[in-house]
Amino acid sequence: MTVGPPEPGRRGVALRSWELWSLPKDLSRYLLLAEVAAAGWTVVAVATETVNRTDLLRFGVLAALFAAFQLISPRIERMRIRMADSHRVDMTSVWTFAGVIALPAGLSALLALLISVAMTVLRLRAGIHLYRQAFTAATVVLACLTGSEVLGLTAPHLAGMSGSAGEAAIVLLTMVIYTAVNTTMIAGAIFLAARPLPVRALFGTAEENGLEVATLCLGGMAALTVMYTPWLTVLSIVPMVVLQRGALIKQLEVAATTDPKTGLLNAVAWRHIAQKELARAARDRHTVAVMIIDMDRFKAVNDTYGHLVGDAVLVAVAERLTTELRQYDSIGRFGGEEFVAILPEVDLATARAVSGRILARVRELEVFSPDAPAVPLGGFSASIGLALYPDNGGDVESLLHVADSALYAAKSAGRDRVESFTL
Ligand code: GH3
Ligand code: MG
Ligand code: MG
Repeated sequence: MTVGPPEPGRRGVALRSWELWSLPKDLSRYLLLAEVAAAGWTVVAVATETVNRTDLLRFGVLAALFAAFQLISPRIERMRIRMADSHRVDMTSVWTFAGVIALPAGLSALLALLISVAMTVLRLRAGIHLYRQAFTAATVVLACLTGSEVLGLTAPHLAGMSGSAGEAAIVLLTMVIYTAVNTTMIAGAIFLAARPLPVRALFGTAEENGLEVATLCLGGMAALTVMYTPWLTVLSIVPMVVLQRGALIKQLEVAATTDPKTGLLNAVAWRHIAQKELARAARDRHTVAVMIIDMDRFKAVNDTYGHLVGDAVLVAVAERLTTELRQYDSIGRFGGEEFVAILPEVDLATARAVSGRILARVRELEVFSPDAPAVPLGGFSASIGLALYPDNGGDVESLLHVADSALYAAKSAGRDRVESFTL
């Protein structure tokens, strides 16, 4: 996993992005603590353990397979890295988790370190933040060392596994602990970087977690082969490539339909869904409300607090829209500080009531500036324009046109209100 809020379109020299010292103090302390703990524990583990030829062979096989996998599918990996902002799983845990099971603790930490350094080098051209990479490496190393401690309860990497159910349970427990350490540390960093955040943002999407679990399962299998028939471990490359392709397709699908800043639908995807909703409404003879929500005096928000706060407000507004509207209402961002929503089977009175609730939520909104994380910023408002199918129009374009005119009327009437036209 890699960590951090999105870096839209960042490219350039990575060394410039060693920005640890300009981060909020509690975040930089947290990152440093993780790195010191990982480095210290690795040194102790390496210094106090004895390593035999078998361990070194296993280490070599896992490192070589990691390298082979990067060589086999560099194009897919590059695309995934380029799109990696909101997709945090880099699939290296197949090798690092196999190391936890098949190697002594110190050697598994060294394997994790080697893989992290290699991934950093591969990502240099993508304009990464080095402090993020260093922290990611620390989380993996600490996950490996904690996992090794748990596994040390039976020490199967030394003697070979006996095949008992108890031993299998310990391996599964190791997987849970490994994931828990990794995930919790990353969630902590994201929280300190951009609180307050919804839990979903801290722990990633179901797809990301599903991919991580699948990768860990493959890691468990790879550990068994590397322990009993090392050369057969090469077989794990095939499902890895298939998994990676599947993950890329999912990322492309999401990227093609989502607004990266807020996670809402983008304009193209929203129009597509809106057209389908109107076709359904025509068939079933029900009404549909179209809503345009535009932030009030947003230029002033940016001018006063800066673009980062402006962005945080947009993300928070998107969150409130998602909670205020129903699951079958589709919400999009039409670029800038303008949102759209389509509400099937809703009449004008209901749409106005819902709009009133949304406006109240926006008024209550508080966000935090990275410069002064203790001081909540507020005083935001929005205006809403409504249009109703079929009364105000029969297709998406004419409904948007009417909603836009209603929005304009709301702005002219003093903002922070909802307007609609009844025929
Ligand atoms: P009004 O109440 O009339 O809508 O005033 P306004 O300032 O919101 O309207 P205007 O359209 O003049 O300005 C919109 C501003 O929104 C311009 C730009 O600075 C800001 N904006 C647009 N997109 C983004 C974005 O993605 N992030 C941030 N932070 N600001 C944005
Ligand atoms: Mg505006
Ligand atoms: Mg606008």
